[in-house]
Amino acid sequence: MKKLVLATTNEGKIREMKMLLQDLPLEILTLKEFPGFEGVEEDGEDFFTNALKKAEKVARFTSLPAVADDSGLVVEALGGEPGVKSARFAGEGATDEENMEKLLKIMEPIPEEKRKAHFVCVIVYFRPTGEYESFIGKWEGFITYQKRGTGGFGYDPVFYVPSLSRTAAELAPEEKNKYSHRGQALRGLKDFLRRHLDA
Ligand code: IMP
Repeated sequence: MKKLVLATTNEGKIREMKMLLQDLPLEILTLKEFPGFEGVEEDGEDFFTNALKKAEKVARFTSLPAVADDSGLVVEALGGEPGVKSARFAGEGATDEENMEKLLKIMEPIPEEKRKAHFVCVIVYFRPTGEYESFIGKWEGFITYQKRGTGGFGYDPVFYVPSLSRTAAELAPEEKNKYSHRGQALRGLKDFLRRHLDA
């Protein structure tokens, strides 16, 4: 069976990516199976640059096709922040809780109608030969005033989706994958892989 490496150690992302790709005839590995890999500094100015950098480095290190996702939360009232810095919004090594607390605190004075936000996910599939493809997903919502729900990861408890009347953390995993930025980008990747698995 052909192999594919997910260029991440983030448990939340691994869970969501494996769930969507599970019915492809592929053996899915993650960076946990390559402990010698030293990691990639995510210093790019946009999601695509970071995803490309991660996917390329992992594909070259493992000599296997690699899939990297770079994602984050874009809040309009904050001029696009936390954006590419979503994982480290409250500082290097910050927990999801710390990042959400910081976001809720900064947004305390912002009225409901100005709390629009969206998640973005860019996925890059990179072959050791140097060819690559990219896929994008975007999920619109609002930032709540307090956390709600226990599912998902990251900013899910403070991301409210009006069409579902729930936060992302109140959705079942399959439901989140159906609507989310990562689900959208992964379906693009999946269609591509289905068409190209023999190549
Ligand atoms: P990176 O892609 O590893 O740089 O980090 C993405 C960060 O964005 C995560 O650590 C989360 O804080 C946030 N994020 C990305 N996708 C999601 C999601 O589906 N739910 C909640 N937070 C997310």
